[in-house]
Amino acid sequence: MDSMERLREIVETSDRIVAFTGAGLSAESGIPTYRGAGGLWTKYDPNIYANIDHFLRDPTYYWNFFQEVRYPIISQAQPNPAHDALVELERRKLLKTVITQNIDGLHQMAGSQNVIELHGNTRRIGCMECGKEYSMDEVYGKLQDQLPPRCDCSGGLKPRVVFFGESLPFEALEGANDAVKDCDACLVVGSSLVVYPAAMLPVLASEKGARLAIINIDPTPLDHMAEVVINDSAGDVLHTVVKGGFE
Ligand code: NAD
Repeated sequence: MDSMERLREIVETSDRIVAFTGAGLSAESGIPTYRGAGGLWTKYDPNIYANIDHFLRDPTYYWNFFQEVRYPIISQAQPNPAHDALVELERRKLLKTVITQNIDGLHQMAGSQNVIELHGNTRRIGCMECGKEYSMDEVYGKLQDQLPPRCDCSGGLKPRVVFFGESLPFEALEGANDAVKDCDACLVVGSSLVVYPAAMLPVLASEKGARLAIINIDPTPLDHMAEVVINDSAGDVLHTVVKGGFE
């Protein structure tokens, strides 16, 4: 059995699948990853714009990045065949949960119902004083004459994402733990599996006896634990396995 056939066999014989997704899954939607193929190419350094200490000291760097890079890319991005294939698996009642490290909201836009966002969602921006929430469009509007942008109460704004140096939201992490403990197959899609604690989840799934499949262009540190590793594009692989068959 070749690896595509084995992946299809895993998908078709499991009914409590968890998909664990990362930036590579959204690469084909035009959103650059941090690492590997198609990695970030902008003048903005994620170690600075996504670092909480730096953000609190100098939010202007983040908001310049938002205005020049993040907003134009995320506001135009559309789900790709990999997102659609996971929606289809959920519709067929084979997939229970998508656990994503992505902050782009594309799983929900594609139609996935049960999505756990480990690192938050960059489309939601909250006031650090009063908690009022704004959309990206609203904040982009504010930025035309206000840098850094402020809430109507004059509090500072922050995207509802987990920055480097912040803890993961407890509820999301707990939900993700429960989902992987209960799954019979874990499909890792488009993640370098080097960001912790998120990358512990596929390990936990495997330790609990789930079948592990990894679809990622570059090799990952957990490849040795997986039953199947496919180093190819997420959209092509998932579309072929889930939607098209491959005879
Ligand atoms: P990563 O950037 O560390 O790794 C991405 C991986 O995707 C690479 O190993 C690469 O080989 C693979 N890849 C690239 N294109 C692919 C494709 N078309 N098909 C399959 N694989 C492909 O990503 P990560 O592991 O998710 O960790 C990065 C962190 O950065 C996450 O915490 C995430 O929050 C954040 N991030 C999110 C986005 C997003 O929301 N779209 C984008 C960049 C970074």
